Amino acid sequence: MDFYLGIDFGTSGARAVVIDEAAHIQAQVRYPWGADAELASSWQRALLTLLGEIPEELRRGMRAIAINGTSSTVLLCDGDGNPVDTPLLYNDGRGSSVLGELRDIAPPNHTVLSATSSLAKLRWMMQLPAFGEARYFLHQADWLAFLLHGQLGISDYHNALKLGYDVECLQYPEWLLGLQIPLELPKVLAPGTPIGELRPEISQQFLFPANCLVCAGTTDSIAAFLASGAKSPGEAVTSLGSTLVLKLLSRTRVEDARYGIYSHRLGDLWLTGGASNTGGAVLREFFSDAELENLSREIDAGKASELDYYPLLKVGERFPINDANLPPRLTPRPDHPVEFLHGLLESIARIETQGYELLQKLGADSLTQVYTAGGGAKNPTWTAIRQRNLQVPVISSMNTEAAYGTALLAMGGLGVGEEIIF
Ligand code: ADP
Repeated sequence: MDFYLGIDFGTSGARAVVIDEAAHIQAQVRYPWGADAELASSWQRALLTLLGEIPEELRRGMRAIAINGTSSTVLLCDGDGNPVDTPLLYNDGRGSSVLGELRDIAPPNHTVLSATSSLAKLRWMMQLPAFGEARYFLHQADWLAFLLHGQLGISDYHNALKLGYDVECLQYPEWLLGLQIPLELPKVLAPGTPIGELRPEISQQFLFPANCLVCAGTTDSIAAFLASGAKSPGEAVTSLGSTLVLKLLSRTRVEDARYGIYSHRLGDLWLTGGASNTGGAVLREFFSDAELENLSREIDAGKASELDYYPLLKVGERFPINDANLPPRLTPRPDHPVEFLHGLLESIARIETQGYELLQKLGADSLTQVYTAGGGAKNPTWTAIRQRNLQVPVISSMNTEAAYGTALLAMGGLGVGEEIIF
């Protein structure tokens, strides 16, 4: 039996999922972050611990491995792959000090023009004393994969998007050369592309076959999308977590910086989407999770609530309304909590519908089906309300774990199975 391993380096911990050729899960292991989650040495420890915890009979049949990291978590390393300084994590905003310079060279509204982009981080790192020792700039997923295959300077076009890599022409753009970066930018491969066999030390230590391949990885949010099961144009994944995040698979690339909309490449397709500030965090302001469950059961989902809210925690929205001064709208508040919750769920469902309408208006394929992930996915009343608003089937994701999506990527990279779009 052949097996495939996906490893997710996420915000709360690292996870590994092993699947078989039928994409069924055979094992899952977890490694929670301690206080030193920002150190590359702790990522390495997590990686090796996870490998060791996978049952030996699965390790012996492993054909391919892929890793996803958090988007824009980056580090500098020397010619042997040793980090020369502490990595910068996905949410590190110190790159804001170089945005003025980047604005002078990057096209207007480009995705690199954000304090947390990989390029802003790289430009910021250029003034570090240790920069002189650096030979390579890598993303978290690139470096962890290097530990397994031993080749430096390789990335994938999901991680490289916020470095400024042109995912349409598959090259670094001319304007990037204006920064005169004195080290090697990673060579960029399609996610899932086999890079090389495991280093012999690793395959011997963990009893993997010598010809087990390590594939180019991806980012955590794309891996979670891949896990959902969505694979055709028009299929989408709504994440109903603290915020509301929409992702729609399309044949056309859609970008609009005003709304924070951009597209990732997925083989011949594009994954476009946007993130609204509304979502479960507002529900949690008013209701416990148990109340959400119990009160939702009393709602008549077939009937539209007349209450027209814009649920936000604070002023300001980007998508699907671009207005930094948009105030939260949570009145009038009915006396009965069931009515109030109905109004909140209905209003968030309307914002979701408006979001997909905007993506389609900007050129994305027509919506055909919506998968759902996040805490709100387990609420059947909300699903029914959303389906009435969206007018397409709303179903649960096949799986919501990024590690599962990355295992599919490892399998798809070898051309096995049909679950993957690559
Ligand atoms: P995140 O990872 O973004 O913090 P989760 O995916 O864990 O969020 O989802 C948590 C959110 O789900 C909370 O904000 C909570 O309000 C919401 N939630 C939990 N249970 C329910 C429910 N039964 N119905 C609707 N929303 C729920």
